[in-house]
Amino acid sequence: MQIYEYKIPMPDIGYNANAYLIKQENKKSILVDAGPNSPQALDALEATLKKAEVGWDNIEHILVTHGHYDHFGFVAQIAERSGALVWVHPADRNKLTSALKNPFFIDPEAAIPFLEELGIQRTKIAGLINEVVTLEGGTKPLPESSIRSLAQGSVLNLSGLTIKVIHTPGHTPGSCCFQLVENGAVFTGDTLLPEITPNPIFDLEGEERDLSLVRLQESMTKIRLLRASKAYPGHGKPILSIDSAIDRQFTHMAKRSEQVLGILGIYGLSTFSVTNKLFPSDGGRYHTWLALSVTLGHLGWLRVRNCVRTRRNAGIVYWEAQ
Ligand SMILES: [Zn+2]
Repeated sequence: MQIYEYKIPMPDIGYNANAYLIKQENKKSILVDAGPNSPQALDALEATLKKAEVGWDNIEHILVTHGHYDHFGFVAQIAERSGALVWVHPADRNKLTSALKNPFFIDPEAAIPFLEELGIQRTKIAGLINEVVTLEGGTKPLPESSIRSLAQGSVLNLSGLTIKVIHTPGHTPGSCCFQLVENGAVFTGDTLLPEITPNPIFDLEGEERDLSLVRLQESMTKIRLLRASKAYPGHGKPILSIDSAIDRQFTHMAKRSEQVLGILGIYGLSTFSVTNKLFPSDGGRYHTWLALSVTLGHLGWLRVRNCVRTRRNAGIVYWEAQ
């Protein structure tokens, strides 16, 4: 068995997405993620197939770490050409089957009441939604018949490989990591990254909108307990020291929570007001969405620890230190 790591450049946002081809001696192969729907994703896959000396028909399965366009965007094309089955957790499944224009929510209209609760003025909401919707190219929807569901703790036997599935919500509700039993390595998607702190991204579905950071930390602890030999992340280089990578993430997150608590003081602030104080500069593409997600994640983390409480006034949720 051999693992081929390959990078898919994303020139418009200035970084790469990783995908992995796992090839067996008999050429049967599995992909972990596929990159965005772009010519670069096709070029990178073709170069990797050539290097590994396998054909499209040898790709039997595609494991999707999570439902973000830079990881699953190119999956439908590969499935169509190779006949591969696509494995994804039910919580992220809709993102692959609907012709999405953005990776953050299914129905932009449904986002409005929630965004108002966060303290964003009604007049700014349409612009914010457009910021995400218009910047994304649509992804090709995947037919239901090629999808298989991932479940926490299940062990898959695919193409002669044994793969343990670990459900690791937080970055998205359906994020999963995959441990290859044959060599102990784990594919972590965006749940554990080497250089940057994964974003806890709020999802509009479900009742746990402010618990994404709490879930992300629980998921990192699950990864730690795997005692994996090596981690292959969704962006950046492989991680050789998993414990210290996780320690770094927890330290960084704790500092940021302190910062959020400091901003709150004794005054009640909406999530959007805290976001603007925490991330004062406009970082361009997705800046507001990601900044809001991170802020809400930390507020939820502090709420669970009884460091903050909420008060509702005229449809807006205000956070206060306690
Ligand atoms: Zn992601």
